[in-house]
Amino acid sequence: MPIIRVALNVPVDTLFDYAATDTSKKDIGLRTLVPFGRKLLTGVIIDVTNETQVPPEKLKAAECIFREIPPLPTALLELFQFCSQYYHHPLGPVILNGLPSKLRSNKPVKLKEQQEHYQFSLTPAGEQIDAATIPARNRVSHRLLAQLNASTILTTNEAKLISPRALKQLTEWVKSGWINATAIPTATIPKPSSPPTLTEEQESAVNTITADITQFNTWLLHGITGSGKTEVYLRLIEKVLSQGKQTLVLIPEISLTPQLEAVFRARFCTTHLVNLHSGRNDTERMQGWLQALHGEAKIILGTRLAVFTPVANLGLIIVDEEQDSSFKQQDGLRYSARDMAIFRARQTETPIILGSATPSLESYHNALTNRYRYVRLQTRANKNAALPSIQCIDIRASKATEGLSEPLVDALQECLKQKRQSLVFINRRGYAPVLLCKSCAWTAACKRCTSRLVVHLRDKKLSCHYCGHTEKFPRACPECGDQDVMPFGHGTQRVEDTLTKHFPEARILRIDRDSIRRKNAWQNILKAIHAQEVDILVGTQLLAKGHDFPNLALVGILNSDASLYSTDFRASERLFAQLMQVSGRAGRANVAGHVLIQTEFPNHPLYHALQLHDYDALAQTLLAERKAAGFPPFVYQALLRAEAHDIKIVLEFLTKASSVAVPTQNIELFDPVPAQITRLQGLERAHLLIQSPSRKQLQLFLTHWYAQINTLPTRKIRWTLDIDPLEF
Ligand code: ADP
Ligand code: ZN
Ligand code: ZN
Repeated sequence: MPIIRVALNVPVDTLFDYAATDTSKKDIGLRTLVPFGRKLLTGVIIDVTNETQVPPEKLKAAECIFREIPPLPTALLELFQFCSQYYHHPLGPVILNGLPSKLRSNKPVKLKEQQEHYQFSLTPAGEQIDAATIPARNRVSHRLLAQLNASTILTTNEAKLISPRALKQLTEWVKSGWINATAIPTATIPKPSSPPTLTEEQESAVNTITADITQFNTWLLHGITGSGKTEVYLRLIEKVLSQGKQTLVLIPEISLTPQLEAVFRARFCTTHLVNLHSGRNDTERMQGWLQALHGEAKIILGTRLAVFTPVANLGLIIVDEEQDSSFKQQDGLRYSARDMAIFRARQTETPIILGSATPSLESYHNALTNRYRYVRLQTRANKNAALPSIQCIDIRASKATEGLSEPLVDALQECLKQKRQSLVFINRRGYAPVLLCKSCAWTAACKRCTSRLVVHLRDKKLSCHYCGHTEKFPRACPECGDQDVMPFGHGTQRVEDTLTKHFPEARILRIDRDSIRRKNAWQNILKAIHAQEVDILVGTQLLAKGHDFPNLALVGILNSDASLYSTDFRASERLFAQLMQVSGRAGRANVAGHVLIQTEFPNHPLYHALQLHDYDALAQTLLAERKAAGFPPFVYQALLRAEAHDIKIVLEFLTKASSVAVPTQNIELFDPVPAQITRLQGLERAHLLIQSPSRKQLQLFLTHWYAQINTLPTRKIRWTLDIDPLEF
């Protein structure tokens, strides 16, 4: 009997053998249901052979092999293999992490029939229907009928907007002869939005990349905010579409997808596009995944996880905002979707474009050293859109009251007078309002994490932004009993309150994680901003990302200093990228933009570079610092992370792991240290850093070491390797 070797979602670095009937090598990549312990698990067949090390009496038989969809393509399996090797993470969890949840379940997937696009219209018989004869509770029927009467034609998409049950009702009406259904004639498909004439820079970028569009290259498209990178993407996608190939577009988490999707749909309105962003439900994800696999979806747009979408005929990969840290997963399999995308591009001989206004220093360095090909856009695409003027307000000289300095308040006032929008940006990384006792300096802290609780004034709650724990405001200080406990610092809610006091007439909208939690909240917010229903926006990093707000004239930046002196060596790079991004929100169209930064250090090189819009100056400075200090991109790093209930156990484990390591040439092994957030969700965390100037040598060392660590006793401890770590 043939043996199938199966990857299962269990944290052991091995494949599992099962006996199976009616199978051959052709089944590699199919899913199979197998007994595991007392349970049944779904896994993926990695190999089919005739031999196994498992003794015959222990060899179990597979329950079944799922054949309702084709096997995972070899290229995708290779991507998973590479991911498993590079991140030193067992293959089973890597594969199962990358599949839509419907494929992870122990059931076959139900395939929905492809819905064609129809338009419906009333027949003469249908026109005679008296709505009063339809029971009032059939609300969907009433709405459909009203719509058919009002607009004579109803498309499938419009019907779906009325109700998910609408199509069922319409099908019944077709059967009873009340309505006609006709496939939508191509003539009624909207005309694509007409593309603008490319700027010289854009044209040169498009031409350069097009010349090598059929071969692998990593392109860094470095274009200042508003330089029209999207238009470059669109032109290249057009080229790839004309060759009948597919494009995979990866974008950061949250917020950006609806806007970009709308732009793509407007340009390629007859092209099949699927959106696999993280907000999709299981069915939508499954469908999009299959359409990509079958080559039907020509444009696949998605967040991090979409890098694992099978694509039949890949022609181009785009990673927009490549520096965004959301491309790196921060738990479980800690992979970088950007880096996996580069592997994929190389594997399929496809070009990949990394787009950014502020590239990561890693990518910038690779471009300067010719590992990547480098294309720049240095002017704004819209000729009337000048770069914003950026100024620092020295808050040592002009004291801020309630967090807002006088010059900023004046500028906001002026903006209101001119009916322009403004944005007050609060950098919350490392800075949030805490509850402080004025007598004994006690601050409210999370019991499960080493972090202070953040004050949410509105609902009188304290909440931990690491583990989600919330509690009520204490009535008095638990240390000294004093009742004078006060919020200290400035969060979005507090700034919103202060702004309301200053500008009672202004329409102020706060945007942070709390205010966008509801479904569609984002879309409504964006709509309100574009409809000029908002005067002042207050928000965090969520607002910084690529949005285009044409009437935004002023950006005020609060609390950015905290990041200048962070212990994280990437803090400056991130702050700069974030401030460039948020500054780029101002003056996008015909409105001149101003940016005011409240700071105690107006002469800091970072603010200097920002005022001059000089990414290169800062990047060179930071690269020189990194080189001197031996930080990435001049070395490659890995972290051995461990956590347990007791920090002693964690440190003991790490010390033991360190002692079994055999440092080879060029490998630097550091001492175990507690993580920056030592306690997280009740667990104590520590790590050990390993680095090397050679990625290859680091990988060789890790492979050997990983096997060693796997032999250590790990009771009560959880550990993982984090390759190219971004957080410490
Ligand atoms: P980026 O992503 O580089 O910040 P966008 O792609 O958002 O920039 O483009 C900024 C603005 O410039 C958009 O409103 C876009 O429609 C416009 N734009 C892009 N290319 C051109 C062009 N060639 N001519 C005129 N306007 C353009
Ligand atoms: Zn907590
Ligand atoms: Zn006290």
